[in-house]
Amino acid sequence: MADFKKEVTVNIAEDPLSYSILIDNGTLDQLAEVLQDYYRGEKIFLVTDENVDRLYGKEVMNILQHNYQIIPYVLPSGEQAKSYKFLQKGYDRLIEESFHRDHLVLALGGGVVGDLAGFLAATYMRGISLVQIPTTLLAQVDSSVGGKTAINHPRGKNLIGAFYQPDLVFIDVDFLETLPLRELKTGLAEVIKHGLIADRNLFNYLENSREKIYNLNPGALIKIIYRSCQIKAGVVARDQKEQGERALLNFGHTMGHALEAVAGYGSYTHGEAVAVGLKVESRLSELEGHLSSAELESIERILTDYELQQQLPEEITADELYESMWHDKKVERNKINWILLAEIGEAFRAGEIARSKIYSVLEGLK
Ligand code: ADP
Ligand code: ZN
Repeated sequence: MADFKKEVTVNIAEDPLSYSILIDNGTLDQLAEVLQDYYRGEKIFLVTDENVDRLYGKEVMNILQHNYQIIPYVLPSGEQAKSYKFLQKGYDRLIEESFHRDHLVLALGGGVVGDLAGFLAATYMRGISLVQIPTTLLAQVDSSVGGKTAINHPRGKNLIGAFYQPDLVFIDVDFLETLPLRELKTGLAEVIKHGLIADRNLFNYLENSREKIYNLNPGALIKIIYRSCQIKAGVVARDQKEQGERALLNFGHTMGHALEAVAGYGSYTHGEAVAVGLKVESRLSELEGHLSSAELESIERILTDYELQQQLPEEITADELYESMWHDKKVERNKINWILLAEIGEAFRAGEIARSKIYSVLEGLK
């Protein structure tokens, strides 16, 4: 098999399946060869979206069509694709094309493609093989690791879904060359989060590598993606169904999700909302007496350096955000599961936080 610069193995507890995440640059032309190690069937259902299809569809087809028969399924780009309608169309195509359990669904795209293709794969004939090729930074460091798949319900995002692990995640950082800056930043917010909750070294590396990262230096990108995947894979392996440790990944998301919901989905990217959430929840960590003020300063500095937005718009009130936090699907038994930082590199599950403290932090972001 081709040698990849970095490989993360995801081990799933109580599940004989474990899978690899391969991370490198300049490897797309080896895709067919690599896939041969994971899939010997003849047909591939290639799920992608219009943007990714326009940029990479032909190239991927050319690479794969010598070894496989490819049935493409091109979704519109954006969150609207994660719907019953496009799920149903996907099943229709799989049935028309006589796909069986031993065939493969290949997801080529960002989180939207990965979520819909993953849910299709999880449910079609009770589960057919899945390979993910994430093409956004957010998908490479977050959504392609951990086996979450979902579609949206008109009443809320990701309400219908399943945990379903792929056979392989194939990451090539060259895909990021065409990614809009705004989408790159949304992924970087999650990478910073990984440093904050679990890895002081990653945080330090990010502090010193902004230029390399924004210049898309392959070595720097491979490094931050590798560490992110290791962190997420480690947490997921220990807690597949999100009961304990996995909650730590939610740092910055209690407020991030509330902001996304209040602002109306689509006005903030996920990472933009999470960046604000990182700031709010870091300040709360300090206010509650856990995080030192010097470390809080470092966190605020990195958010500024990476030009991640940290202010709340005038029209969004603390009341609305507070209210919205209680509607998050992660609120259990009338208790908000706050994740706070003890220090940079260490997060923990915290108890209740006084409403007045939350308001004072929110007011400070105006
Ligand atoms: P995310 O991965 O951030 O969850 P999406 O799947 O919606 O979200 O991807 C974000 C946007 O980026 C979409 O419009 C998608 O078509 C586009 N996109 C995905 N990968 C690339 C790429 N490598 N280059 C350019 N645009 C891309
Ligand atoms: Zn997130």
